[in-house]
Amino acid sequence: MTKNFERFPLKPFILNAIKELRFQKPTEVQERMIPALLNGESAIGQSQTGTGKTHAFLLPIINNIDPTVQEVQAVITAPTRELANQIYQEVLKITKFSEEDQMINARCYVGGTDKQRMIDRLKQQPHIVVGTPGRIKDLMVENALLVHTAKTIVVDEADLMLDMGFIEDVDKIAAAMPEKLQILVFSATIPEKLKPFLRKYMENPKYTHVAPKQITAEKIKHQIIPLKSKSKTKLLHDILVKYNPFLAIVFTNTKKKADEVADSLLEQGLRVGRIHGDLNPRERKKMMKQINDLEFQYVVATDLAARGIDIEGVSHVVNFELPTDLDFYVHRVGRTARADYSGIAVTIYEPSDEAALSHIENLGIQFTQVDLKAGELVEIGPRNKRKNRKKQVNEVDIAAKTAVKKSTKVKPGYKKKHKYEVEQYKKRQRRLKKR
Ligand code: ADP
Ligand code: MG
Repeated sequence: MTKNFERFPLKPFILNAIKELRFQKPTEVQERMIPALLNGESAIGQSQTGTGKTHAFLLPIINNIDPTVQEVQAVITAPTRELANQIYQEVLKITKFSEEDQMINARCYVGGTDKQRMIDRLKQQPHIVVGTPGRIKDLMVENALLVHTAKTIVVDEADLMLDMGFIEDVDKIAAAMPEKLQILVFSATIPEKLKPFLRKYMENPKYTHVAPKQITAEKIKHQIIPLKSKSKTKLLHDILVKYNPFLAIVFTNTKKKADEVADSLLEQGLRVGRIHGDLNPRERKKMMKQINDLEFQYVVATDLAARGIDIEGVSHVVNFELPTDLDFYVHRVGRTARADYSGIAVTIYEPSDEAALSHIENLGIQFTQVDLKAGELVEIGPRNKRKNRKKQVNEVDIAAKTAVKKSTKVKPGYKKKHKYEVEQYKKRQRRLKKR
């Protein structure tokens, strides 16, 4: 069964773990990266969400740990607590197969947990550290966590790290590590602003870019449903009930909206979970566990949940509202159709969303319009775009801006462009705060 993974020089316990994970064969990113990473090479991995990046770095890292040396050998950083936790859980699924007398141990360090207890427990250093950059840096500064022995650092979801302002902390952690360091950076996009960091630490990284065949997984059906006379939360309720999903995630743009929507669904009799930035760490952890235990059929979330988190069995993604940053459409719908499953993404739209929908279509996504008729979901023809002539100007606007942003080599007007980018950055920061 693991024949395909057996081609890699992986230790027997790793192959046993893969067997239990039921991975039949490596994904494309894994195929391309595992051999180089086993050799200690630095690498940048860029591929669409759900393509198995986590194990592309976990398998070689865990394989290369020397269990007889009780010091930190690898540090894995992730932008959110949930993501760090999730990676940590994947680490444990593999390390539990390591030899009893030579157990590889891993720890997870994220904010919102008892720091003193972590420090006390650090009398013995773990082999593998997973965590958010802030907390790892804190433990470093306290001289509790000793990272100067590490051979490898992973920066997962690097573009989000940048957006959230964590790259500085990652920089500080990396700076405390040996000069000869294996750096592994994973990102859906490689923004220009990330490049100084990459240049600082990586001389000749292996660069793997697995171009998506389509921008989102092929097995996702993209549907749109017009909001007409009903209230939006009533329409949401009705389609959720109609889909009767295995597990649906409903996305909103702000924490406030997420609560409103979740409360309204509760009032309408649905059992819903919610996940956003206002939950305290304990609540968030408990919620993630409940979601993974399939206690809910519906979960309302902000984009905090749209990045990197792999909740098993998401069959439907519902956009209660389109994301302000349209790139997030791809991240959101990427929560479904993971690995070998298929999924449905539904967006509730109003006439004012026309420009945004066209923009998403320009990314290569095709929408099918559906509507609830006599209690049944039926396909109706394409939406009427002509009504929205005025809005199409807006669409050109958006396209133009995107294009300008991409042509990074243009020198004239640099200042103006820079100012624009700064504004965009600030906007993004403000938005992130609301999640
Ligand atoms: P990414 O980081 O690229 O978004 P993940 O690492 O979260 O993707 O992987 C997505 C899903 O695919 C996870 O559920 C993971 O367990 C599964 N997966 C990873 N590698 C394989 C494989 N070789 N075969 C089958 N499933 C895999
Ligand atoms: Mg990932």
